[in-house]
Amino acid sequence: MEYQNIVFLTGAGISAPSGLQTFRGENGLWYNRNPEDVATLKAFEDNPLFVLRFYNRLRKEMLQAEPNAAHLAIAELEKKLADSRQGCVNILTQNIDTLHEKANSSRVFHIHGSIASARCTKCNCVWHNERSILLMTPCPACQSVGTVRPDIVFFKEPLQYQGLTEHFLKNADLFIAVGTSGKIAPASHFAAEAKAHGAKTMAFNLEEPENKQDFDEVILGPAEQTLPQFIKELLSN
Ligand SMILES: [Zn+2]
Repeated sequence: MEYQNIVFLTGAGISAPSGLQTFRGENGLWYNRNPEDVATLKAFEDNPLFVLRFYNRLRKEMLQAEPNAAHLAIAELEKKLADSRQGCVNILTQNIDTLHEKANSSRVFHIHGSIASARCTKCNCVWHNERSILLMTPCPACQSVGTVRPDIVFFKEPLQYQGLTEHFLKNADLFIAVGTSGKIAPASHFAAEAKAHGAKTMAFNLEEPENKQDFDEVILGPAEQTLPQFIKELLSN
């Protein structure tokens, strides 16, 4: 195996074949809402019930989805490398769904937060949560009521795991972006950063990503087909 330190960046395109449509697409998960109405701190403060209900519905839908061949292939790569002590796989995901976890990947970092965790705005406690969040849901740490929100990064809030992300991008020898358009900063800069530190960079996407110049190779097509094929080849080398 040529690579020891593989970092994935996954976006909405990897979850679309599992029935979780990209947010802005037709019939996307925004349910025809403007993201500004549900994914900003102001929206949450102005109308918490509306925002909580939106994410409660989204959570239900996301938790019912199943991983597809692309998620499973990444998990298999992690397992094979770990079992043979040849290297490790880390996944930075822009997705708030839990499909990587369901595929049994263990090194998953949700840079935009996760639908399956909740946070208290008062004491900043974060906990695993698959239930609906209500206005009366108390924080398990400080017992406050009305301070519990989905642990999701709203627009203009800083990404999670920034330090770790830097570390991964610096140390990767193979960086693979899957199902991400390369339009949204700062994740759109990750490939360039990994490349600057010497990683080989690859993209698996339906369409050419906007930052295609940052990739050594761009593989066009459905990631649930192209990625398992590539990983199979990688593991046979
Ligand atoms: Zn609290």
